[in-house]
Amino acid sequence: MYKTLVAVDDVDKEVDGGLPSLRGLKRRLSCSPSGRPLATPQQKEVSKETASSVAEAADTECKVCSPEDLVVVPGSAKRTDYLSWDDYFMAVAHLSAMRSKDPSTQVGACIVNSQNRIVGIGYNGFPAGCHDDDLPWSRNSSNPLDNKYMYVCHAEMNAILNRISSDTRGCRMYVGLFPCNECAKLIIQSGIHEVIYLSDKYHDQPAFVASRRLLNCAGIRFRQQTTSRKITIDLGALQ
Ligand SMILES: [Zn+2]
Repeated sequence: MYKTLVAVDDVDKEVDGGLPSLRGLKRRLSCSPSGRPLATPQQKEVSKETASSVAEAADTECKVCSPEDLVVVPGSAKRTDYLSWDDYFMAVAHLSAMRSKDPSTQVGACIVNSQNRIVGIGYNGFPAGCHDDDLPWSRNSSNPLDNKYMYVCHAEMNAILNRISSDTRGCRMYVGLFPCNECAKLIIQSGIHEVIYLSDKYHDQPAFVASRRLLNCAGIRFRQQTTSRKITIDLGALQ
C-alpha cells in the first residue's frame, strides 16, 4: 500500500470530487524527491537499461502510486504572501527613515549586495556627535545658516559610510527618495550599480536633473519601484 503526500493550506480548496487534486501535490512517499518512483525489490533486479526506461516513463506520471492512498497534510504549503526582495529592502529603508529627527523629510537607504545581503543602512540626520537639538531643522529661514541643508547628512551618504563590507561595488541601493546630485556622486564613487527609489517628487529641481545626468553618464541604472504593498508592524502584538 503506497501513500501519497498532498500539501495543502486549505483542504476544501484542494479536494475535488473527494480526492485531492494534483495542485498542491508535494510528493508521493513511494517516489523519489524528483518524482520518479523508488525502485521496488523486483525492479532492483532488472538491468540498468530497463530501470532507466522505467524511470523515464515515470517522469510524467507515477505508475506505482495509487490516488486512493492520499495523505493530506494541512498547512504544509509555503506562504504565498511573503515579501518580495524589492519590497523587503525598501521596507528596511523606510524603517530606517523612521529614526530620522527631521520634522519635514524622513528618508532611509539600504544597500544590498549581489547575494541579497544588507551591507549598509542609513537615514538623514546631523553628523555623529552633533546633537539633534544644537543645529536647526528649518527649511525656509532667510539666513541659510539657520536652515538644515548645510548640516544634514543624507540617507544615501550615511548608508554608504555605515557599510559593513570593504566596498560596495556591484551593490544596489534602495532609497525612499530619488538621490540628489551630491548623493549621486557618492553612489557613483562607491561602485553601487543600481538605485531603486520610491518617490521622485523633486524630479524637475536642478539638483535632481543633475543627479540623473551624473548617473546616466556613469552608467548607473535607476528605476522607480512601484508597489502597493502595505506592511504593518505591531510590536505590541508581538509581546
Ligand atoms: Zn542627497
